[in-house]
Amino acid sequence: MNTTVSSIELFPLRIPRDVPYLGPLEEDNRPNSKGYIVRPGNRTVYPVVDQTLLVKAVASDGTVGWGECFGVVAPQIAKTVLEELLIPFVIGHSPHDVERIYDDLYDLQRVRGHFGGYALDAVAGLDMALWDLRGKLLGQPVWQLLGGLRHERLPVYVSGLPGGTKEERAALGKRWIDKGFSALKFAAVVADEGEIAEIEAIRREVGPAPKILADLHWRYTALEAIGLIERLCDYDLYLAEAPVAPEDLAGQAQVARSVSTRIGLGEEWRTVHEYLPRLQARCMDVIQPEMAHTGITGFRRICELAQPFHCQVMPHATINIGIAQAASLHVAATAANFIMHEYQHTIFDRNKQYIRSTMDCRAGYFKLPDGPGLGTEPTEEVLSFVIDRG
Ligand code: MG
Repeated sequence: MNTTVSSIELFPLRIPRDVPYLGPLEEDNRPNSKGYIVRPGNRTVYPVVDQTLLVKAVASDGTVGWGECFGVVAPQIAKTVLEELLIPFVIGHSPHDVERIYDDLYDLQRVRGHFGGYALDAVAGLDMALWDLRGKLLGQPVWQLLGGLRHERLPVYVSGLPGGTKEERAALGKRWIDKGFSALKFAAVVADEGEIAEIEAIRREVGPAPKILADLHWRYTALEAIGLIERLCDYDLYLAEAPVAPEDLAGQAQVARSVSTRIGLGEEWRTVHEYLPRLQARCMDVIQPEMAHTGITGFRRICELAQPFHCQVMPHATINIGIAQAASLHVAATAANFIMHEYQHTIFDRNKQYIRSTMDCRAGYFKLPDGPGLGTEPTEEVLSFVIDRG
């Protein structure tokens, strides 16, 4: 138990991809000088490559732990927060103190106004690396350290159906159903004929049984969202995600109490402090925490906070190489209120070549990685995609 953290190394990565996340770029939509785009009718920035930030924590006995910060946009920012501020507060401490370290790193930034955003993304990856280290030092998987397994198999929904037309997207959805999956989510932002035409095409293709979820990408006012969601319910919509702006708590509550299906929220929030007022106001039926924003400590606290509100957990899966994905599965597997995990097939299936892990997703379920800690490590090859080497 005397092992301490002796060094922390950071790897901001930029991995090229042929087709940008969410599908081909619209005509005239060109990446800017830093490689970022905003899709028409969206307003959110995306890279045209995969970006992430890996954290490597080395213990005094040489054991290595890995974590992954949210690095979809400008991974250099969380890297700077870690290098310039946080890492010196962790060196020399025991990885077994991970929850206290999480609290200390939150506390030391909060009165500076940094209790969200990039500051917490930096904490998230560090927290994951310390949990991985802890598990490896104890020879136990992280799920064991979190109190034991509740879900041996983790049901998933297939997220995103990239394709040029709604017919192509619906046909892709059908292929996933034929492979044994039972839930699909479409993205409003690439539904070029509108959400109603999109769900109509998918429902016609897949039949009545599969669950269909709609990601509304924070696009609507509360009244617009209520009208749209009720029309989507004619096609048996299982869940509407992110209907209104992240800050609009009153609008979120208004939508949730006015529609006849589930509302899912939360991929953009990082702490219990952001979730608590939404849970109290009954803004959602399902929470969607994102591991690369919350870390393992924050994620678990959010899941536990949601439990007395009888709110279910459907974790989000951002662009990552699989370290954050593995961490998300470890916590989900121990959460009493877990129902389904997001399966980003265009990210996970491609990036799994860059990790050493037995984690897999087949026939509707994620399989937890074997081994101590997170059971998932980056390959040497992926570290060669580091940005601003030297
Ligand atoms: Mg989403």
